[in-house]
Amino acid sequence: MNTQDLRKYFKCLIRLKKAITDLLLMHNFHILWFLFLYLFLMLSLFTQSGNTESNNMPDSATTKMRMRMIETQLITRDIGDKDVIRAMRNVPRHLFIPQEHRGYAYEDGPQPIGHNQTISQPYIVAIMTELLKIDSASKVLEIGTGSGYQAAVLGEIADSIFTIEIIPELAKTARLLLDSLGYKNIRCKTGDGYLGWPEEAPFDAIIVTAAAPKIPQPLIEQLKLGGRMVIPVGDYSQELYLITKNKDGVVKEATIRVRFVPMTGEVQKKP
Ligand code: SAH
Repeated sequence: MNTQDLRKYFKCLIRLKKAITDLLLMHNFHILWFLFLYLFLMLSLFTQSGNTESNNMPDSATTKMRMRMIETQLITRDIGDKDVIRAMRNVPRHLFIPQEHRGYAYEDGPQPIGHNQTISQPYIVAIMTELLKIDSASKVLEIGTGSGYQAAVLGEIADSIFTIEIIPELAKTARLLLDSLGYKNIRCKTGDGYLGWPEEAPFDAIIVTAAAPKIPQPLIEQLKLGGRMVIPVGDYSQELYLITKNKDGVVKEATIRVRFVPMTGEVQKKP
């Protein structure tokens, strides 16, 4: 319940107290019916307005918060790619975050999305997207759909996005949300991203948003020549690697230290 809801609740109580006092003073039992009617009306009004207010923050407020996020968390930290800025200005990040944490959607950190998983910090989404150097012709693979936010950001820039999530409930929620927002260029699949999406390979770019102990070989194979992959590698604290593929093999470059949830499934079984 937010402050506005509380205020309404107390107003309602004060009006009720006044109505009861009036009733006692007048000893008029016809008024009892009005009191019931009044209570019923106030209750339905209260529950209705509570729902709409907490589900949707007004567009103008979230646009403002998004602008501030871009200014204070991205631009001041050297995110300069115009496409990344435009994409993150367009995607309504708060809708990708469960109701109870929505108020923190534009904070400078990761947020819980259920099932012990998190949506990445805005700055990390920006830097990973920027490192991929994608454009409107790119075909991109994402491992770890999570909330679907990173996929939406990629979907604003690239031609087509293929995203895989291992937790069926998260995959379903993300797919429904991305569909409702009209992202026709994003395809979602439930499964283990370790194996990539061979039917759609090769990809111009691959982004892994869960930490792997090592780089999955199938993903390297599914990267185009000249393609780029970003992946957090390590256990508790990890290094964000940029992998580029050329005709002589792959070049691995460590960029910044990051903290992602671990990649589960096949990758944990391999020696
Ligand atoms: N990109 C997401 C955040 C990723 S959190 C977003 O924008 O919200 C990491 C996600 O990777 C989690 O949802 C987790 O379930 C998923 N994941 C972990 N291991 C995976 C695997 N082997 N294949 C696919 N998804 C995996």
